Amino acid sequence: MFASLSDRLSATFKSLRGKGRLSEADIETTVSQIRRALLDADVAVPAVRAFTSAVRERASSAEVSQALNPAQQIVKIVNEQLIEILGGESREVRFAKHPPTVIMLAGLQGAGKTTLAGKLGKWLKEEGHTPLLVASDLQRPNAVTQLQVVGGQAGVPVWAPEPGNGVGNPIEVARTGVAHAREKYYDVVVVDTAGRLGVDAELMQQAADIRDAVNPDEILFVVDAMIGQDAVTTAQAFADGVGFTGVVLSKLDGDARGGAALSIRTVTGKPVLFASTGEKLTDFERFHPDRMASRILDMGDVLTLIEQAEKAFDEDQAQEMANKIAGDGDFTLQDFLGYMQQMKQLGSMKKMLGMLPGMGQMREQLENFDEREVVRVEAMVQSMTPGERQNPKIINGSRRSRIAKGSGSTVSEINGLLDRFEQAKTMMRSMARGGMKGGMPGAMG
Ligand code: GDP
Repeated sequence: MFASLSDRLSATFKSLRGKGRLSEADIETTVSQIRRALLDADVAVPAVRAFTSAVRERASSAEVSQALNPAQQIVKIVNEQLIEILGGESREVRFAKHPPTVIMLAGLQGAGKTTLAGKLGKWLKEEGHTPLLVASDLQRPNAVTQLQVVGGQAGVPVWAPEPGNGVGNPIEVARTGVAHAREKYYDVVVVDTAGRLGVDAELMQQAADIRDAVNPDEILFVVDAMIGQDAVTTAQAFADGVGFTGVVLSKLDGDARGGAALSIRTVTGKPVLFASTGEKLTDFERFHPDRMASRILDMGDVLTLIEQAEKAFDEDQAQEMANKIAGDGDFTLQDFLGYMQQMKQLGSMKKMLGMLPGMGQMREQLENFDEREVVRVEAMVQSMTPGERQNPKIINGSRRSRIAKGSGSTVSEINGLLDRFEQAKTMMRSMARGGMKGGMPGAMG
């Protein structure tokens, strides 16, 4: 996501490098480059306007003229304005003082509500809650079954309509679901509701009736980020028809430009709480404006990376990895393989790599990254002796052909692996030194 915007901003910053001072003309050029980059990213005009005028004003102020390196100051300003436009502080879910907390999902059909209900259920459970999912989407064929499936995957119970508790009546299902939660001490209820393909009055009325029946603590408007600026129009319709307290951006994995993410806060005034980044239950994250801004500026989203890694590695492993990355131990081919295997467990390797700082230039390679590669690397490393894994420098020509034979690969594939291993080692070292300590590697080159 945000690939083109990242590239455009980074080109803008590059053109400022080496300038000792920014003239009025430099600032104007910079601002107009940023404006065009945002418009091309499908950001809504009011959001673009707010963004560029803030950048212009701050760039012209004493803040910059005093600075040693104006280009860095511009990066800082753009970073801060991106955080601002994405919503500033991360917003927590507001849990009710007296459980159950009721979270209602609203949005168009296909927006990703049912999938999100499963993801939310899983997340809530991991956070120590006892959630209940309620199937109030009786419009879309299969929506109830689909919720039961994702609930099953998440290990979260589902309240579905049965004779006696509201067959055919989504409002009744929602009401009895919440009553059931109260009785059985579920502390959070997630109510899935129906959406039509377009905004219509009947849909709005039904959502409003469910809202009135269950009095939600949060109404989350789920919107498909792939529809770009149209997300904003839909959001306005839901704001008028039902009202909502927060937004969930779904299919962010498919939103190459980022228009929805960058517009929705300015236009609706409501915070984004979560992002959905794929079809699997694990493709889900809390939305942190600061981390998202770092990703856009290609500073890498080290915090999210670390959080995700913590889920896959146990603490000792995590510590060991941190030490190795920092150069406090030898990072061997065996480790390289181990990390690749563990990363693979996390889901998409691409996504993980994309979060590393300075990966902007490697984006093309990432797009072509093949997860089966892990299997090939596995075969190659397993054909090496322990000594070779420990110290790849000893792998000479005859060892290379032996390993190639043993793993069913070619010598040039072995060469490729060894090159990539060296690159990864260097990259991890420099990341540990600069990137993780809050520097701005990628953006400034
Ligand atoms: P609903 O009608 O709002 O309940 O939408 P669904 O949850 O049924 O989702 C519609 C389609 O989008 C399904 O095929 C989902 O698998 C898919 N989907 C949902 N969330 C995401 C996401 O974050 N990324 C991608 N790529 N697909 C998603």
